Amino acid sequence: MACETLRHHCGVMGVWGDENAAELVYHGLYSLQHRGQESAGIVSADNDRFHRQIGMGTLAQVFSGPATLRELAGRSAIGHNRYSTTGSASQYNIQPLYAELRDGPVAVAHNGNLVNTKKLRRSLQEDGAIFHSTTDSEIIVHLMARSRSDQVRGKLVEAVSNVQGAFSLIVLSDHALYAARDPYAWRPLSIGRSPDGAWAIASETCAFDLIGYEYVQDVEPGTVAVVNDGGLETERFAEAEHTYHCVFEHVYFSRPDSRVGGEYIDKFRRKMGKHLSQEHPADDADIVISVPDSSNTAALGYAKESSTKFEMGLIRNHYVGRTFIQPTQTMREMGVKLKFNPVGGVLRDRNVVVVEDSIVRGTTLHKLAALLRSAGAKELHVRVSCPPIRYPCYYGMDFPSRDELIATGRDVEQIRRQIGVDSLGYLSVENLLASVPQKHGVGYCTACFTGDYPIPVEDAEEETGTKYRYRSARDEEDEED
Ligand code: 5GP
Ligand code: MG
Repeated sequence: MACETLRHHCGVMGVWGDENAAELVYHGLYSLQHRGQESAGIVSADNDRFHRQIGMGTLAQVFSGPATLRELAGRSAIGHNRYSTTGSASQYNIQPLYAELRDGPVAVAHNGNLVNTKKLRRSLQEDGAIFHSTTDSEIIVHLMARSRSDQVRGKLVEAVSNVQGAFSLIVLSDHALYAARDPYAWRPLSIGRSPDGAWAIASETCAFDLIGYEYVQDVEPGTVAVVNDGGLETERFAEAEHTYHCVFEHVYFSRPDSRVGGEYIDKFRRKMGKHLSQEHPADDADIVISVPDSSNTAALGYAKESSTKFEMGLIRNHYVGRTFIQPTQTMREMGVKLKFNPVGGVLRDRNVVVVEDSIVRGTTLHKLAALLRSAGAKELHVRVSCPPIRYPCYYGMDFPSRDELIATGRDVEQIRRQIGVDSLGYLSVENLLASVPQKHGVGYCTACFTGDYPIPVEDAEEETGTKYRYRSARDEEDEED
C-alpha cells in the first residue's frame, strides 16, 4: 500500500429518522455521483447493529440491485462517493469508514483534504495506532477513539479541533447523525428535512430535491451539527474571521441546481459568463457554444450579455465516463473524441465562441479545437469562466502536479498557441469573485489561481516548484495598519 496520503474529493450523504434511510442515501448519492465515481459505500444503523456495503466503482456498479440495499436495515444511514487521483485506488480506502469505539460503533464519511496528517499519523502510529487505509479521514476516527469524552459528540468535537484542512464530515452513531465542517468551510455541506421530520445531511442540496426533502440550511463553518429524533443542535468548535469557500466548487464542481447560502450555483455561473463577455468580448462571433455539460450555464451568461446566439455545437455522449480520470494520456485524448461530436450544420463557416469552465491540462480544448475545425468552424474564440489554474490544490480538488498544468510557466498567448485557437480569454480573479456571493464573513480560496494558500500545507513544501505563500493572521493585521 502506498504510504502517500490519498487526495480525494467526494460526495457525502446521511439520513436520520426515516424507515427507508439506506434507500434515500442511495438516491442522494446518485445525485452526488459527479463528485466521485471511484468507489461508493453505505453504512446503515439498525439501533446499534450497523450494516455496511461498499465497493469500487460507481453507485450502479456497487449496488447492483434492490437486494443489496435490503440488507442495509435501519432508520439511519450514511454514504459516500469517492473520487481520487493521488494515493492508491484501493479497497482499503473505501468509505464510509467503520469503527467500534469504546462506547459503541460509528461510521464516518469525509469530503475534503486534511493538511496536517503526516505528523498526526506518525504520532498516532508511534502511540500504537494501526491504520487500515491511506485516507486522511482515518485519522479522525483514531482521534475520536482516543478522546476521553464518553459521548460521540464530544469525541467528534475533540477530533475535528485537532485536524487542519478541509473537511465536510458526517458521522453516524446509534444515537445521532453528526455533521462537522472546518472553520474555513472549503467544501459544501447542507442540512435538509423531510415533511415527516426526518433529517438529511448532504454535500449538495440537489440530493434533497431528489428524495423530497427541504433544504433547511448549510452546516455553519467551524461547527458540529447533531440531528436525531430530538431535533437539531449545533456546537461551534472553532472560529475564523471569514470562510475560504472553494471558488472552484462554484466554477465547476458543484451542480448548478445545488444551492449555497440559499442561492443557486446556476446564478453564479451565469454571472461568470456575463463578466467574461464584458472582459473578453468576441466582436465578430456568430454563435456561442458550451462544452457540455459543465460550461452550459456560463455559456448562457456569455451569450446573453453579448447578444450572440447560443447554439448546441457539441453533442455529448453520456455513456462515457469523465475523461479527466482516465489513467493514461492516450486514453484521455481518445476520451475527448469518444465524449464529444461536433454538429457540422451548426458550426460550418461560423465564427464560434467556445465557453469552457476551466482548463486544467489543456487536453480537452486542444482536441476539441481540432474537432471543431474539422467540422468546418471558421474562427475559434475560447473563453474560460475562471482564471488560469497554475497551482495544485491541497484542500480537496484533484488538480495534477504543477508541471502537468498547461498554465504553469505559460502566458495566455502561449496557451492559446498550444491549444490551437484564434483567441483565448480567461475570467480574472476579480471578476470571478464579483460573480459569487460576497457577504460578511464569506471569503473564498483562490489558491489554484494565485498560489495564496490560506493555511499551511505539509505536502506543499515538499513538492517541487510549489510557490507556497502562507498569509498568517499576523500579515493581514500588518496590512490593515
Ligand atoms: P483539461 O482537459 O484541460 O485537463 O481539463 C479541463 C476539462 O475538465 C474541462 O472541460 C472541465 O470542465 C473539466 N474539469 C475541470 N476540473 C475537473 C475535475 O476536477 N474533474 C473532472 N472530471 N473534470 C474537470
Ligand atoms: Mg468540462
